[in-house]
Amino acid sequence: MKAVKLFPVVEALKLGKRFAVIAHISPDGDTIGSCLALANFLMDHGKAVELYCHDAPPENLAFLQGIKNFIRPSGNDGSQAHSACYDAVVCLDCSDQDRLGDAAYLLKQTSCTINIDHHASNTMYADINFVEPKASSTAELVFDLIREMDGDYYSLPVYEAIYTGIATDTGGFGFSNTTPAAHRIAAQAIEYGLDVDRLTRALFRNTTLARVRLLAKALSSLEMHCDGKVAFLTVSKNMLEEVGLDENNADGIVNYGIDIVGVECAALFKEVEKDRIKVSLRTKAAVDASALAAKFGGGGHARAAGCSISASIEKAKEHILAELKCMLE
Ligand code: 5GP
Ligand code: MN
Repeated sequence: MKAVKLFPVVEALKLGKRFAVIAHISPDGDTIGSCLALANFLMDHGKAVELYCHDAPPENLAFLQGIKNFIRPSGNDGSQAHSACYDAVVCLDCSDQDRLGDAAYLLKQTSCTINIDHHASNTMYADINFVEPKASSTAELVFDLIREMDGDYYSLPVYEAIYTGIATDTGGFGFSNTTPAAHRIAAQAIEYGLDVDRLTRALFRNTTLARVRLLAKALSSLEMHCDGKVAFLTVSKNMLEEVGLDENNADGIVNYGIDIVGVECAALFKEVEKDRIKVSLRTKAAVDASALAAKFGGGGHARAAGCSISASIEKAKEHILAELKCMLE
């Protein structure tokens, strides 16, 4: 079945010679790993690939081959040199066009747009949409695509990129989206020679003093609501300034809220700008995180989702709490 769904993607990538590959804003391990796996695979098959991301990739992914090649579409670092047109533009792990940020204009520079994703909330915005909500990660789908295109192809940098996507999106093979396929692909990567200890260290056990100080501040902001079913955490601009970090350093903090016994929904309110709050949501069975995020124009998965709210931190909390009170009734 997957092979049939993959067919249009395979055809477009086999026929084309020049591609743009786009990661989502505030990139995570899955979008970056998926882009680099696909880019390295295509380049190993003689294709030209330009990589784009609205924001800089996370520093802990620096070990991935090709990560320095990401172009920031509105960057002022002189890296915006790019082609005028592509045979296809591939978006990876982007559930809607807003997730492309300033890279969205690239969709107009081609006659073939391709959307590969695992979010159930995907809006099917491309000419070719390969969307599988049951997949652990977009990286798992890129692995299927690569196997379909060239079953004899093996490369350590591609395995590392795929493993990075799967391991980060499944929280180290622990979340409910962990599939048998995720484990099978990881097993193949390890058989091929992937160094689990080195990747785990880089991906999950690789913090800085400033990040630990930010975590301490965020944890001391903890607020409990709805008889202990809701945990709110805050990362304000002030906190970020005090520790000398930007807002891309708050990943994982929301998990401290959802790990509390009895909590059904945890939300991290991150002040990106004054009156612009990025909300990260994590839930257990009682709340559909994706449905909650969708009420504020966001999206994601049932257990992990996000949205942006144009309001103060306090107002954003009030809005989310009001919805949660209804959902938890
Ligand atoms: P995180 O909280 O780690 O930023 O995101 C959790 C999940 O929700 C990820 O799958 C991410 O792609 C999705 N997500 C986060 N923020 C947004 C958003 O503003 N819009 C949409 N559509 N999805 C989001
Ligand atoms: Mn993903």
